[in-house]
Amino acid sequence: MFTPLEGKSVIVTGASKGIGRGIARRFGEAGLQVLVVSRNLGEAEQVAGEIGANASAFAADVTSPEACEAMAACALERHGRIDVLCANAGIFPAAKLGAMTAADFDHVIGTNLKGTFLSVSAVLPAMKARKQGRIVLTSSITGPITGYPGWAHYGASKAGQLGFLKTASMELARYNTTINAVMPGNIVTEGLEGLGQAYLDTMAASIPLKRLGAVEDIGNAALFFASDEAGYITGQQIIVDGGQTLPESLEAIAGI
Ligand code: NAP
Repeated sequence: MFTPLEGKSVIVTGASKGIGRGIARRFGEAGLQVLVVSRNLGEAEQVAGEIGANASAFAADVTSPEACEAMAACALERHGRIDVLCANAGIFPAAKLGAMTAADFDHVIGTNLKGTFLSVSAVLPAMKARKQGRIVLTSSITGPITGYPGWAHYGASKAGQLGFLKTASMELARYNTTINAVMPGNIVTEGLEGLGQAYLDTMAASIPLKRLGAVEDIGNAALFFASDEAGYITGQQIIVDGGQTLPESLEAIAGI
């Protein structure tokens, strides 16, 4: 039995859709006060409405230090504290090397990696002051473990998040603040569903558990890292991929 997190405060970036929406909903179900963040206020408000009275929306672009600071100030004003940050906002436009421009590279690194740094930096004063905090990053299997044509910049940003968290976890330890990462495999989101049932079936066949992940699978892992019971875990990452990264060959997956 886990200690209830009811009444605590969480900021979820990139929460207007996909995995962030799943994380925000899971934390909302657990009774936390949820700040649903994305650039589009209307979509964030819709998700906050789905969660209920313990959730509200805020528009912030995580590439902007000022916007991240305003996001933290908003959580403090509305919730009186910041217990948890889920730094989840991310983009994944594809471009193969040769076609990928410096601007493409900067855009992906600026959102996924620098955006993580800026979001974490913004909540730190509040966590340091109370000597209490939990930070959960959404990384990926793509980059740290696997590759996918078109996503060299994306993979670098996701691996970069894990490099960031190793040192960050050491620096934050004295403030009783932990930082960990969830590494999702293929998770069913609105974007993935748009690729059609045939694509989804092929993807599922390559996964030992024979299904794509649900956003709730990532929400559950994030909630675990935020729990009191995970208080002695920091600087770590957990792969949530149904075993997708385990088969060493097509032969291996065909044999199960
Ligand atoms: P998604 O459905 O496209 O949602 C992305 C979210 O991030 C949206 O809420 C979007 O809202 C927000 N966002 C994008 N740029 C932002 C910015 N500059 N500032 C603030 N918010 C921003 O994506 P997803 O698939 O759920 O992915 C979420 C995270 O999971 C990403 O970090 C991604 O790398 C990771 N991930 C996803 C999968 C997967 O299978 N889906 C697998 C591994 C890892 P606005 O556009 O309104 O800002």
